[in-house]
Amino acid sequence: MPDFSAKILTWFDSYGRKNLPWQRNKDPYRIWLSEIMLQQTQVKTVIPYFEKFIQVFPDVKSLATADLDQVLHLWTGLGYYARARNLHKTAKIICENYGEHFPQSFDEVLTLPGIGRSTAGAVLSLAHDQHQVILDGNVKRVLARFHGITGWPGNKKVENQLWQHATKHTPRKRVAQYNQAIMDLGATVCTRSQPDCGPCPVTKKCYARLNGEQKNYPGSKPRVSLPQKNVVMAMIQNDQNEVLLLQRPPTGIWGGLWCFPELEQAATKNPDRDMDETNNKTDDITGWAKRTLDIEITTNPAWPTMKHSFTHFHLTITPVPARLLRLRPGIMENPGAVWYNPCKPDQRGLAAPVKKLLEKLGEKQ
Ligand code: SF4
Repeated sequence: MPDFSAKILTWFDSYGRKNLPWQRNKDPYRIWLSEIMLQQTQVKTVIPYFEKFIQVFPDVKSLATADLDQVLHLWTGLGYYARARNLHKTAKIICENYGEHFPQSFDEVLTLPGIGRSTAGAVLSLAHDQHQVILDGNVKRVLARFHGITGWPGNKKVENQLWQHATKHTPRKRVAQYNQAIMDLGATVCTRSQPDCGPCPVTKKCYARLNGEQKNYPGSKPRVSLPQKNVVMAMIQNDQNEVLLLQRPPTGIWGGLWCFPELEQAATKNPDRDMDETNNKTDDITGWAKRTLDIEITTNPAWPTMKHSFTHFHLTITPVPARLLRLRPGIMENPGAVWYNPCKPDQRGLAAPVKKLLEKLGEKQ
Protein backbone atom coordinates (compact mmCIF):
# COMPACT_ATOMS: atom_id res chain seq x y z
CA MET A 1 0.00 0.00 0.00
CA PRO A 2 1.45 3.39 -0.92
CA ASP A 3 3.05 5.34 1.90
CA PHE A 4 0.53 8.22 1.94
CA SER A 5 -2.61 6.10 2.31
CA ALA A 6 -0.91 3.64 4.71
CA LYS A 7 0.06 6.47 7.06
CA ILE A 8 -3.40 8.00 6.93
CA LEU A 9 -5.04 4.64 7.63
CA THR A 10 -2.77 3.98 10.62
CA TRP A 11 -3.66 7.43 11.96
CA PHE A 12 -7.37 6.69 11.36
CA ASP A 13 -7.20 3.47 13.39
CA SER A 14 -6.30 5.50 16.48
CA TYR A 15 -7.86 8.92 15.89
CA GLY A 16 -10.52 8.69 13.16
CA ARG A 17 -14.20 9.28 13.81
CA LYS A 18 -16.05 5.99 13.98
CA ASN A 19 -19.19 6.76 15.98
CA LEU A 20 -20.92 9.45 13.99
CA PRO A 21 -24.69 8.85 13.78
CA TRP A 22 -24.50 7.86 10.09
CA GLN A 23 -21.70 5.38 10.76
CA ARG A 24 -23.78 3.04 12.95
CA ASN A 25 -24.48 0.82 9.96
CA LYS A 26 -23.72 0.88 6.25
CA ASP A 27 -27.21 1.95 5.21
CA PRO A 28 -26.75 3.88 1.91
CA TYR A 29 -29.80 6.04 2.72
CA ARG A 30 -28.24 7.34 5.95
CA ILE A 31 -24.83 7.78 4.30
CA TRP A 32 -26.32 9.64 1.32
CA LEU A 33 -28.33 11.90 3.66
CA SER A 34 -25.24 12.67 5.76
CA GLU A 35 -23.11 13.39 2.69
CA ILE A 36 -25.69 15.88 1.38
CA MET A 37 -25.99 17.58 4.77
CA LEU A 38 -22.18 17.73 5.10
CA GLN A 39 -21.79 19.63 1.83
CA GLN A 40 -20.72 23.12 2.97
CA THR A 41 -21.66 22.33 6.59
CA GLN A 42 -19.56 21.08 9.52
CA VAL A 43 -20.14 17.78 11.31
CA LYS A 44 -21.10 19.36 14.65
CA THR A 45 -23.80 21.46 12.95
CA VAL A 46 -25.09 18.52 10.92
CA ILE A 47 -25.50 15.98 13.78
CA PRO A 48 -28.70 17.41 15.39
CA TYR A 49 -30.27 18.00 11.96
CA PHE A 50 -29.42 14.46 10.90
CA GLU A 51 -30.85 12.90 14.08
CA LYS A 52 -34.11 14.83 13.74
CA PHE A 53 -34.39 14.08 10.03
CA ILE A 54 -33.84 10.34 10.52
CA GLN A 55 -36.44 10.25 13.27
CA VAL A 56 -39.08 11.70 10.94
CA PHE A 57 -37.86 10.02 7.73
CA PRO A 58 -36.22 6.72 8.75
CA ASP A 59 -36.02 5.41 5.19
CA VAL A 60 -36.11 6.54 1.59
CA LYS A 61 -39.82 5.73 1.19
CA SER A 62 -40.88 7.93 4.07
CA LEU A 63 -38.85 10.78 2.56
CA ALA A 64 -40.22 10.22 -0.96
CA THR A 65 -43.82 10.31 0.22
CA ALA A 66 -43.36 13.32 2.52
CA ASP A 67 -44.62 16.78 1.77
CA LEU A 68 -41.79 19.04 0.55
CA ASP A 69 -42.86 21.58 3.19
CA GLN A 70 -42.08 19.09 5.94
CA VAL A 71 -38.65 18.37 4.42
CA LEU A 72 -37.87 22.10 4.17
CA HIS A 73 -39.10 22.60 7.72
CA LEU A 74 -36.54 20.06 9.00
CA TRP A 75 -33.87 21.78 6.88
CA THR A 76 -34.64 25.26 8.24
CA GLY A 77 -31.39 26.86 9.44
CA LEU A 78 -29.07 24.47 7.56
CA GLY A 79 -29.00 26.71 4.47
CA TYR A 80 -28.47 25.88 0.78
CA TYR A 81 -32.07 24.71 0.46
CA ALA A 82 -31.54 23.32 -3.05
CA ARG A 83 -29.93 20.39 -1.20
CA ALA A 84 -33.24 19.58 0.54
CA ARG A 85 -35.28 19.96 -2.63
CA ASN A 86 -32.88 17.67 -4.53
CA LEU A 87 -32.88 15.14 -1.69
CA HIS A 88 -36.66 14.96 -1.93
CA LYS A 89 -36.57 14.62 -5.74
CA THR A 90 -33.90 11.91 -5.55
CA ALA A 91 -35.87 9.95 -2.93
CA LYS A 92 -38.83 9.88 -5.33
CA ILE A 93 -36.59 8.69 -8.19
CA ILE A 94 -35.08 5.94 -6.02
CA CYS A 95 -38.55 4.72 -5.07
CA GLU A 96 -39.97 4.93 -8.60
CA ASN A 97 -36.99 3.61 -10.60
CA TYR A 98 -34.86 1.58 -8.21
CA GLY A 99 -37.34 -0.27 -6.00
CA GLU A 100 -36.41 1.85 -2.95
CA HIS A 101 -32.74 0.76 -3.16
CA PHE A 102 -29.97 3.30 -3.65
CA PRO A 103 -28.41 2.45 -7.06
CA GLN A 104 -24.96 0.86 -7.00
CA SER A 105 -23.72 1.93 -10.41
CA PHE A 106 -21.55 5.05 -10.26
CA ASP A 107 -22.96 6.38 -13.55
CA GLU A 108 -26.54 5.94 -12.37
CA VAL A 109 -25.81 7.62 -9.05
CA LEU A 110 -24.30 10.59 -10.91
CA THR A 111 -27.61 11.19 -12.73
CA LEU A 112 -29.47 11.75 -9.43
CA PRO A 113 -30.32 15.37 -8.54
CA GLY A 114 -27.85 17.01 -6.16
CA ILE A 115 -25.20 14.26 -6.38
CA GLY A 116 -21.82 15.11 -7.91
CA ARG A 117 -18.72 13.03 -8.49
CA SER A 118 -17.35 13.24 -4.96
CA THR A 119 -20.68 12.58 -3.21
CA ALA A 120 -21.34 9.60 -5.50
CA GLY A 121 -17.88 8.25 -4.69
CA ALA A 122 -18.39 8.77 -0.95
CA VAL A 123 -21.75 6.98 -0.80
CA LEU A 124 -20.64 4.01 -2.91
CA SER A 125 -17.35 3.56 -1.10
CA LEU A 126 -18.71 4.06 2.43
CA ALA A 127 -21.86 1.97 1.91
CA HIS A 128 -20.66 -0.70 -0.51
CA ASP A 129 -16.84 -0.67 -0.22
CA GLN A 130 -16.56 0.15 -3.91
CA HIS A 131 -13.20 1.46 -5.08
CA GLN A 132 -14.29 5.10 -5.57
CA VAL A 133 -12.34 8.33 -5.21
CA ILE A 134 -13.62 11.35 -3.26
CA LEU A 135 -12.62 15.01 -3.33
CA ASP A 136 -14.65 17.11 -0.93
CA GLY A 137 -13.48 20.40 0.59
CA ASN A 138 -11.48 18.69 3.36
CA VAL A 139 -9.68 16.36 0.95
CA LYS A 140 -8.89 19.25 -1.40
CA ARG A 141 -7.24 21.13 1.47
CA VAL A 142 -5.08 18.17 2.56
CA LEU A 143 -3.96 17.37 -0.99
CA ALA A 144 -3.35 21.00 -1.99
CA ARG A 145 -1.09 21.45 1.06
CA PHE A 146 0.63 18.09 0.83
CA HIS A 147 1.48 18.48 -2.86
CA GLY A 148 1.79 22.28 -2.92
CA ILE A 149 -0.91 22.71 -5.58
CA THR A 150 -1.31 26.41 -6.25
CA GLY A 151 -4.54 28.09 -7.30
CA TRP A 152 -8.16 28.05 -6.21
CA PRO A 153 -9.67 24.51 -6.23
CA GLY A 154 -12.85 25.92 -7.81
CA ASN A 155 -10.76 26.45 -10.95
CA LYS A 156 -11.23 23.46 -13.28
CA LYS A 157 -7.50 23.02 -13.99
CA VAL A 158 -6.61 23.03 -10.28
CA GLU A 159 -9.49 20.69 -9.50
CA ASN A 160 -8.34 18.25 -12.20
CA GLN A 161 -4.86 18.17 -10.67
CA LEU A 162 -6.36 17.43 -7.27
CA TRP A 163 -8.53 14.63 -8.72
CA GLN A 164 -5.39 13.08 -10.20
CA HIS A 165 -3.66 13.09 -6.82
CA ALA A 166 -6.79 11.83 -5.07
CA THR A 167 -7.06 8.96 -7.55
CA LYS A 168 -3.40 8.07 -7.18
CA HIS A 169 -3.63 7.91 -3.36
CA THR A 170 -6.90 5.97 -3.03
CA PRO A 171 -5.93 2.40 -2.04
CA ARG A 172 -7.51 -0.78 -3.38
CA LYS A 173 -7.97 -2.20 0.11
CA ARG A 174 -9.79 -0.51 3.01
CA VAL A 175 -11.15 2.14 0.64
CA ALA A 176 -14.10 3.06 2.86
CA GLN A 177 -11.83 3.64 5.85
CA TYR A 178 -9.33 5.58 3.74
CA ASN A 179 -12.03 7.91 2.37
CA GLN A 180 -13.38 8.47 5.85
CA ALA A 181 -9.83 8.94 7.16
CA ILE A 182 -8.77 11.64 4.72
CA MET A 183 -12.03 13.54 5.29
CA ASP A 184 -11.44 13.30 9.05
CA LEU A 185 -7.83 14.42 8.70
CA GLY A 186 -8.95 17.55 6.83
CA ALA A 187 -11.74 18.26 9.31
CA THR A 188 -9.82 17.69 12.54
CA VAL A 189 -6.06 18.10 11.88
CA CYS A 190 -5.42 19.88 8.60
CA THR A 191 -8.00 22.54 9.40
CA ARG A 192 -8.51 25.70 7.40
CA SER A 193 -7.00 28.25 9.76
CA GLN A 194 -4.85 26.26 12.22
CA PRO A 195 -3.47 23.01 10.84
CA ASP A 196 -2.01 20.88 13.63
CA CYS A 197 1.02 19.65 11.70
CA GLY A 198 2.81 18.06 14.68
CA PRO A 199 0.66 14.92 14.98
CA CYS A 200 -0.29 14.84 11.28
CA PRO A 201 0.60 11.43 9.82
CA VAL A 202 1.94 12.88 6.54
CA THR A 203 3.84 15.79 8.08
CA LYS A 204 7.32 14.59 7.01
CA LYS A 205 6.62 14.91 3.30
CA CYS A 206 4.05 17.71 3.30
CA TYR A 207 5.11 20.51 0.92
CA ALA A 208 3.23 23.27 2.76
CA ARG A 209 4.58 22.23 6.18
CA LEU A 210 8.17 21.88 4.96
CA ASN A 211 8.00 25.38 3.47
CA GLY A 212 5.98 26.99 6.27
CA GLU A 213 3.30 27.88 3.72
CA GLN A 214 0.23 26.18 5.16
CA LYS A 215 -1.73 29.46 4.92
CA ASN A 216 -1.14 29.69 1.17
CA TYR A 217 -2.89 26.41 0.38
CA PRO A 218 -5.40 25.89 -1.00
CA GLY A 219 -5.46 29.15 -2.97
CA SER A 220 -8.31 31.54 -2.23
CA LYS A 221 -11.23 32.22 -4.47
CA PRO A 222 -10.52 35.32 -6.59
CA ARG A 223 -12.23 38.28 -4.95
CA VAL A 224 -15.22 39.64 -6.77
CA SER A 225 -17.43 42.23 -5.19
CA LEU A 226 -20.89 40.76 -4.94
CA PRO A 227 -23.91 42.85 -5.83
CA GLN A 228 -26.02 44.23 -2.99
CA LYS A 229 -29.80 43.85 -2.94
CA ASN A 230 -32.17 45.55 -0.53
CA VAL A 231 -35.63 44.35 0.36
CA VAL A 232 -38.35 45.46 2.73
CA MET A 233 -40.07 42.55 4.44
CA ALA A 234 -43.60 43.51 5.43
CA MET A 235 -44.55 41.69 8.66
CA ILE A 236 -48.30 42.11 8.29
CA GLN A 237 -50.31 41.00 11.33
CA ASN A 238 -54.06 40.52 11.61
CA ASP A 239 -56.33 41.00 14.65
CA GLN A 240 -55.22 37.63 16.10
CA ASN A 241 -51.55 38.66 15.74
CA GLU A 242 -51.03 36.06 13.01
CA VAL A 243 -48.54 37.03 10.33
CA LEU A 244 -49.06 36.84 6.59
CA LEU A 245 -46.56 34.48 4.91
CA LEU A 246 -46.31 33.73 1.19
CA GLN A 247 -44.66 30.67 -0.30
CA ARG A 248 -41.84 31.38 -2.74
CA PRO A 249 -41.73 29.75 -6.18
CA PRO A 250 -40.21 26.22 -6.12
CA THR A 251 -36.90 27.20 -7.70
CA GLY A 252 -34.45 30.04 -7.07
CA ILE A 253 -33.40 31.69 -3.84
CA TRP A 254 -35.27 30.21 -0.85
CA GLY A 255 -37.31 28.16 -3.35
CA GLY A 256 -40.44 26.68 -1.74
CA LEU A 257 -39.83 28.41 1.61
CA TRP A 258 -42.33 30.68 3.34
CA CYS A 259 -41.43 34.37 3.61
CA PHE A 260 -42.98 37.72 4.39
CA PRO A 261 -44.28 39.69 1.42
CA GLU A 262 -41.22 41.47 0.02
CA LEU A 263 -40.72 44.79 -1.68
CA GLU A 264 -37.42 45.11 -3.52
CA GLN A 265 -35.66 48.45 -3.17
CA ALA A 266 -32.93 50.23 -5.07
CA ALA A 267 -29.50 49.35 -3.65
CA THR A 268 -27.76 51.94 -1.47
CA LYS A 269 -24.54 51.63 0.48
CA ASN A 270 -25.77 52.75 3.88
CA PRO A 271 -28.18 50.41 5.68
CA ASP A 272 -29.03 53.03 8.36
CA ARG A 273 -30.01 55.41 5.61
CA ASP A 274 -32.05 52.60 4.08
CA MET A 275 -33.98 52.32 7.32
CA ASP A 276 -34.60 56.09 7.53
CA GLU A 277 -35.65 56.12 3.94
CA THR A 278 -37.90 53.15 4.50
CA ASN A 279 -39.59 54.93 7.40
CA ASN A 280 -40.05 57.95 5.18
CA LYS A 281 -41.55 55.81 2.49
CA THR A 282 -44.29 54.00 4.37
CA ASP A 283 -46.72 55.42 1.81
CA ASP A 284 -44.80 53.43 -0.78
CA ILE A 285 -45.21 50.23 1.26
CA THR A 286 -48.90 50.69 1.90
CA GLY A 287 -49.38 51.63 -1.76
CA TRP A 288 -47.36 48.62 -2.85
CA ALA A 289 -49.43 46.29 -0.58
CA LYS A 290 -52.59 47.67 -2.15
CA ARG A 291 -51.29 47.32 -5.69
CA THR A 292 -49.66 43.92 -5.46
CA LEU A 293 -51.62 42.09 -2.74
CA ASP A 294 -54.84 44.12 -2.82
CA ILE A 295 -54.78 44.57 0.95
CA GLU A 296 -54.83 47.71 3.07
CA ILE A 297 -52.22 48.00 5.80
CA THR A 298 -50.79 50.57 8.16
CA THR A 299 -47.10 50.44 9.00
CA ASN A 300 -45.02 51.03 12.15
CA PRO A 301 -41.37 52.18 12.26
CA ALA A 302 -38.94 49.76 10.66
CA TRP A 303 -36.83 47.42 12.81
CA PRO A 304 -33.03 47.44 12.45
CA THR A 305 -31.80 46.05 9.17
CA MET A 306 -30.47 42.48 8.89
CA LYS A 307 -27.77 41.16 6.58
CA HIS A 308 -27.84 37.85 4.79
CA SER A 309 -25.30 36.64 2.25
CA PHE A 310 -25.85 34.26 -0.64
CA THR A 311 -23.11 32.89 -2.87
CA HIS A 312 -23.84 35.48 -5.55
CA PHE A 313 -25.20 38.53 -3.72
CA HIS A 314 -25.56 40.22 -0.34
CA LEU A 315 -29.03 40.98 0.93
CA THR A 316 -30.01 43.75 3.32
CA ILE A 317 -33.43 43.22 4.85
CA THR A 318 -35.47 46.01 6.38
CA PRO A 319 -38.27 44.45 8.45
CA VAL A 320 -41.34 46.67 8.68
CA PRO A 321 -44.13 45.70 11.13
CA ALA A 322 -47.57 46.37 9.71
CA ARG A 323 -51.21 45.92 10.69
CA LEU A 324 -53.90 44.61 8.40
CA LEU A 325 -56.81 47.01 7.85
CA ARG A 326 -58.68 45.31 5.04
CA LEU A 327 -58.23 42.02 3.22
CA ARG A 328 -59.28 41.28 -0.33
CA PRO A 329 -61.87 38.50 -0.12
CA GLY A 330 -60.41 35.28 -1.51
CA ILE A 331 -56.69 36.04 -0.99
CA MET A 332 -56.36 33.37 1.71
CA GLU A 333 -57.88 30.72 -0.55
CA ASN A 334 -54.55 30.81 -2.38
CA PRO A 335 -52.58 27.74 -1.15
CA GLY A 336 -49.42 29.87 -1.30
CA ALA A 337 -50.62 32.24 1.47
CA VAL A 338 -51.11 31.49 5.18
CA TRP A 339 -51.70 33.29 8.45
CA TYR A 340 -48.88 32.01 10.67
CA ASN A 341 -49.08 32.13 14.44
CA PRO A 342 -45.55 32.99 15.66
CA CYS A 343 -46.44 31.68 19.15
CA LYS A 344 -47.48 28.27 17.78
CA PRO A 345 -45.01 27.52 14.96
CA ASP A 346 -46.18 24.82 12.58
CA GLN A 347 -44.23 22.58 10.21
CA ARG A 348 -43.16 24.59 7.21
CA GLY A 349 -39.84 25.61 5.70
CA LEU A 350 -38.77 29.11 6.69
CA ALA A 351 -35.82 31.15 5.44
CA ALA A 352 -33.41 31.72 8.37
CA PRO A 353 -33.98 35.52 8.69
CA VAL A 354 -37.76 35.00 8.48
CA LYS A 355 -37.56 32.43 11.28
CA LYS A 356 -35.59 34.90 13.43
CA LEU A 357 -38.08 37.71 12.80
CA LEU A 358 -41.06 35.45 13.57
CA GLU A 359 -39.44 34.46 16.88
CA LYS A 360 -38.98 38.12 17.69
CA LEU A 361 -42.61 38.87 16.82
CA GLY A 362 -43.67 35.95 19.03
CA GLU A 363 -41.63 37.33 21.96
CA LYS A 364 -43.36 40.70 21.64
CA GLN A 365 -46.83 39.18 22.05
FE1 SF4 B 1 -1.98 19.61 6.65
FE2 SF4 B 1 0.09 20.15 8.22
FE3 SF4 B 1 -0.58 17.63 7.62
FE4 SF4 B 1 0.48 19.20 5.78
S1 SF4 B 1 1.45 18.53 7.65
S2 SF4 B 1 -1.26 17.82 5.52
S3 SF4 B 1 -0.43 21.17 6.32
S4 SF4 B 1 -1.80 19.11 8.82
